[in-house]
Amino acid sequence: MLQSTLSELERRGYATTAILDVFARRYLQQYPDAAAVDDRGNTSEAIVCSTELVRGDYGRLLTAAAAALAANTSADTVAITELFYDRHCYDDRCLLSYKNKTGRSDWPRKQNGNIDIRHDSIGHWRSQQVAGIVERLARAVHGHGKRLAMDVKLSRGDIHRNSLENGQDYQLLAPLVDELVVWNYFGIGRELPETSSYVAAWFDDEFGPDNHYISLGLWKTGWFGDTGVLPADEFYRGLVASRLGGAKNIWITPAKDMSDDHWQALARWAKENNRLAQGAR
Ligand SMILES: [Zn+2]
Repeated sequence: MLQSTLSELERRGYATTAILDVFARRYLQQYPDAAAVDDRGNTSEAIVCSTELVRGDYGRLLTAAAAALAANTSADTVAITELFYDRHCYDDRCLLSYKNKTGRSDWPRKQNGNIDIRHDSIGHWRSQQVAGIVERLARAVHGHGKRLAMDVKLSRGDIHRNSLENGQDYQLLAPLVDELVVWNYFGIGRELPETSSYVAAWFDDEFGPDNHYISLGLWKTGWFGDTGVLPADEFYRGLVASRLGGAKNIWITPAKDMSDDHWQALARWAKENNRLAQGAR
């Protein structure tokens, strides 16, 4: 099924990416001990403990899956998604790993006793864990002559934090992967599409134009916390702003929310862009 889709796309001249999602609901039904625990002690149904990824069976399984996608399909790129830890993982395994790495005796805590999950020491330690597994994934994928891409979140409100609070320090990850796919989901953050210019310009400056995608998410959070589809005109403004900021590669997700209006907005933007490019020549 995957390969027939890849073949069809390649026949039409497209470069292709196969996406590997790190969330693992079925695996955790079978191996509940491997689940991540959040800062309040709740066990996740989908997220695997980061220490389990670094040292456990799931890390080996994920690496084997990435290698299989690279070896057995014709996809040009293997992309890793959902590999972040914003509220997870704070179980005993992770505490031990954190203590060993930092020399501290406990998680950093706020005055009320809750774990200070945005503390830099956690971000640095977790980012090293994530970079460790990404390094293995990169070796597996590159070994078959394919490219590795990785989805990364944005530090909303302070982009310079480099997604440290999600365990995704870009400075550690960028040298390991061929492409960072930046979750520029302004609709979820209730921000204006025009903020995309700043995001694109920042990534362009920090990492160069060729090794990242600016990903536009077709989600929009309403005032009551409900999630709907980003209107086509805001999507269009996001495209324009990303390009203005210097974005060379643009990713759009999820495909199921591309309505006729969104396709028309994309076509209009592409046409205008081509005209601009020709005018510039
Ligand atoms: Zn853990």
